[in-house]
Amino acid sequence: MLKVTKFGGSSMADAGQYRKVRDIILSDPERRVVVVSAAGKRNKNDHKITDLLYLCYAHVQYGVNCDSVFDMIRSRYLEIRDELGVKLDLEREFAALKQRLEEKSISQDALVSRGEYFSAKLMAAYLDFQFIDAVDWVKFHMDGTVDKATSYQALRSLAVGKGVVTPGFYGLMSDGHIRTFSRGGSDITGALAAAALDADVYENWTDVSGILMADPRIVDNPLPIPEVTYDELRELSYSGAQVLHEGTIFPVREKNIPLNIRNTNDPQHPGTMIKESFDTPADPDRFITGITGKKDFTIISMSKRGMSNEVGVLRRMLSVLERHNISVDYAPNGIDNVSVVVSTESVASSLYAILGEIQQELQPDSLQVHDQIAVVAAVGRQMASRPGVSGKLFAALGKAGINIRTINQGPDELNIIFGVDNRDFAEAIRVLYNSFVK
Ligand code: ASP
Repeated sequence: MLKVTKFGGSSMADAGQYRKVRDIILSDPERRVVVVSAAGKRNKNDHKITDLLYLCYAHVQYGVNCDSVFDMIRSRYLEIRDELGVKLDLEREFAALKQRLEEKSISQDALVSRGEYFSAKLMAAYLDFQFIDAVDWVKFHMDGTVDKATSYQALRSLAVGKGVVTPGFYGLMSDGHIRTFSRGGSDITGALAAAALDADVYENWTDVSGILMADPRIVDNPLPIPEVTYDELRELSYSGAQVLHEGTIFPVREKNIPLNIRNTNDPQHPGTMIKESFDTPADPDRFITGITGKKDFTIISMSKRGMSNEVGVLRRMLSVLERHNISVDYAPNGIDNVSVVVSTESVASSLYAILGEIQQELQPDSLQVHDQIAVVAAVGRQMASRPGVSGKLFAALGKAGINIRTINQGPDELNIIFGVDNRDFAEAIRVLYNSFVK
């Protein structure tokens, strides 16, 4: 058995967190591969090292002295090292880095990658594991996608020690330059390592006990989701839940490797297990896995008598949007009417041009725009083929006086998506949570 573990910024924030990580790793000999983030925030008012590195780069670009910011970064790592009693000459590396920064001979990506680099160096020394630099195995194509075959092969040949630590977030371009993933990208590195080594599970350690059933800013103390399928997760994150970095899922899903979200501060908690499918549900009576949503959508709706007999209306409407490069989120239809739901931001500068073109090309009887719309999604694989779920759901919303503006359910019955006014957004989520989860 092999478990690939990835520890996020809050798990790497200070020496106390390093100790917790070590306990987690040492408590299970199957946890032999460790991917780490840069040090994150120690408390609400603290700074993430990655943010400080970006800030440092910006200072130098504008010709502003960055000594104090650089010193914050340096002392953070030295403090962790000294508190843990690790022997590592970081001073020399920081001095060399500072010099490159002052000479402006370092790219932004190379500079910000140092957060993960120093974290991994320290953690490898602390665990007495082998350090493998990400540049030695995460290889990018020139278009910025990962060259998986080469990367997997490289890690397989390097990771032969008893245990290895490697930095997340960056890799090497074929021209020899360091390149980072987008923010939060250490999750991807972890998934790539798990896929490369055909791990039995990819453990993603963070500071919450798994993915929550609803946004904790809306619902008080929402329960964590014990089990979720990759499809459900995709629905949840598409509809607004902030779960994992977008690219994370693909490498592990491709290889059918389960992904387990765990909490470094509560290591006994089983967290959330994400798999392709589950044989038996954790709780057969719970048909909603999670509730999420997003605000600020616009509905463009047109109707035309007799339209249902006309061929190509929907296509023509969609092609107007396509010409303006607008991605359509949902397209609920009636018999003689078609509407599209798009994010308000995406049509901010082109709405009137779009309406003009629809008017001209489709000559509808009426053309309407509704904005300030929020989309709420109730996601759950157990809703499929269960009569009565949507009835119960809409009854609960009706009882709470929430008006539904539009409804959408895919034939796979993985979710029920509906639109409400922005002002009803939080209440709709609370009503669903309270009627389906509690
Ligand atoms: N340190 C990077 C960031 O803050 C990557 C990561 O932590 O996943 O975005």
